[in-house]
Amino acid sequence: MSYRIGFGIDFHQLAEGRALWIGGVEIPHHKGSLGHSDADVLLHAICDALLGALALGDIGVHFPNTDARYKNIDSKILLQHCMGLIQQKGYEVVNIDSSICLEEPKIKKYVPAMQSVIAGIAGITIHDVSVKATTTEKMGFAGREEGLMAYANVLLKKLAAE
Ligand SMILES: [Zn+2]
Repeated sequence: MSYRIGFGIDFHQLAEGRALWIGGVEIPHHKGSLGHSDADVLLHAICDALLGALALGDIGVHFPNTDARYKNIDSKILLQHCMGLIQQKGYEVVNIDSSICLEEPKIKKYVPAMQSVIAGIAGITIHDVSVKATTTEKMGFAGREEGLMAYANVLLKKLAAE
């Protein structure tokens, strides 16, 4: 049985008049993430971690932001696509650990919903999905509420020999 670890990171600007999607959940706020897709920073970091675990490139390779098909796309679809690639290679997810970094709004109460969305797509239980939140103590772009970032680690397990 072989295991692979993956790491992902993502950043987005925050802008007035955009929806704030984090972890597949829409969070009420006067600003939202700016991007070609729905700009879900957490799901993008998890996608990159999944791809990274099997050295399949990064999210920009699989979903170019110049491709009109991905304009305002729901990032849950991107995560489903990445899961499909993992499964094609004979792997399944063991667990996901992640951190979201932003100043406002406070997102703690939305974490169980995020865990549920991510677990459902990744084929694991909510106990296998960690979503943590932190601030930068008002320092830097996140502290000035200009943007947000997310980090994710995943562990994959190969079930059967090829
Ligand atoms: Zn992104």
